[in-house]
Parts: sequence; structure tokens; C-alpha cells
Amino acid sequence: MRFDIITIFPELFQGVLDCGILRRARRSGILDVRVVSLRDFAADRHRQVDDRPYGGGEGMVLMPGPLFAAVEFCRGGENGRKAQVVLLSPQGRLWSQEMATEFAAFPHAILICGRYEGVDQRVVDGLVDREVSIGDFILTGGEIPAMVILDTVVRLLPGALGNQESAVNESFCTGLLDYPQYTRPAEFRGMSVPEVLISGDHARIDQWRKERALQKTRECRPEMVKK
Ligand code: SAM
Repeated sequence: MRFDIITIFPELFQGVLDCGILRRARRSGILDVRVVSLRDFAADRHRQVDDRPYGGGEGMVLMPGPLFAAVEFCRGGENGRKAQVVLLSPQGRLWSQEMATEFAAFPHAILICGRYEGVDQRVVDGLVDREVSIGDFILTGGEIPAMVILDTVVRLLPGALGNQESAVNESFCTGLLDYPQYTRPAEFRGMSVPEVLISGDHARIDQWRKERALQKTRECRPEMVKK
């Protein structure tokens, strides 16, 4: 899958792209990520990409010209191939594991990271397929939300996870939160691993895990149990 990320801070992505599963997926060709600097598409020599809002008010707004030009570049020209164009925005639909699964089937997504007061509405009306929010809070920019999308989608691309890491037994994939996990040592500072997990009885272990997943979900996310 290919991702293009349009941002005024391309340097923010270096660490994320060069570690762990994202790095491995890029190296093996499962994932292709291009981080595009919005300022490269500015029309003036000062590389200006924002201006004051019409009607007055606080802050600055990202101008439509550089954003249209950057998206057209990512698509490969004005009539280039179809890609899913996503604007990261607190006004968007809430990101979820379900949406991540839908995205993992797209061949190409272009993520637009807003900054300041956001982007000119004509970008939303004329360019964007969907607006995505990562939660009911305000961040300073769309870069961290773009990393969240990238990180959740890459895990779902075929071949991205090794045998040790499974994308199907996680919280949300089963409709419940995950069950508690334990590793060595069996005793730690007076706390023991539940006896059932060292019993070797796999039917009992499965039953215990189901019960604990349900209990955890009831405590922390009761609405998931109702669903
Ligand atoms: N004025 C905007 C509003 O009230 O909806 C908020 C702008 S915010 C300070 C700047 C940028 O950060 C946004 O354009 C968006 O790209 C990003 N952003 C902030 N919070 C976000 C969230 N919860 N989900 C996705 N993107 C977010």
C-alpha cells in the first residue's frame, strides 16, 4: 500500500518510519510512504502556505493553492489515478479499528495534515474524500493523527506482522478488549501468575481468557458489551 503524507513538518515522521514494524514493512515493499513538504508547493519565494481567515478571527488557515497542487502531485497529475484523500481533522469521523481494516484494502491514500486553525473549506469541498478524527480533543497538527492512521493500517497489511504478532486477537478485533497477559517470572514482588495459565489445560485457559476479556470490557467500555 502507498501513503503520501502532506505536511509542513516532514521531519516529524523520520523516527516513526524508521522503527519497528513500519520500518520492516517499508523495507520489504509491503508499504511505501512518501512524506511531502507542503511548502514545496507554495507559489511565492517565501514558501508561504497559510494566510489570515476571511471574516477575521484568530490564527492562520492553510491556503487551498498549495494543498491542491500537493495532492495533484501525489496523484501523479490533475487527472492522475484515484487515491483516497483524507484530511485529519477534529471535525471528521472517529477513527476506529473497523475503518483501519477498510483502509488496508485501499492501494493508495493521501493524508493531509492540517495546522493552525485548519484548512480552507474549499480543500474539504473540492479535494477530500473523507475527514478523519482520532478523538474528541484538539492537537496542534494533523501529523500525530496521520501517524496513528499509518500505524494502525500497517499492522493489517498482509505479511506486515511476524508470527509472534497477531492482528486478529487484539482488543476491538473480537468485539471485546483483550484479556490480561503475563510472562516470566511466575512470582514477582508477591504477585503470582494465575494458576490456570500454568496448568497446561487449554480449554480452561481459553475459558478464563474469555471471562477476563468480558470483565475488562464491562469495567472499561460497557457500551461495547451492549453492542
Ligand atoms: N480549528 C480547528 C477546529 O476547531 O476544528 C482545529 C485546528 S487544530 C488546532 C490544527 C490541525 O490539527 C487540524 O487542522 C487537524 O489537521 C489537526 N487535528 C487536531 N486535532 C485533531 C484530531 N482530534 N483528529 C485529527 N486531526 C486533528
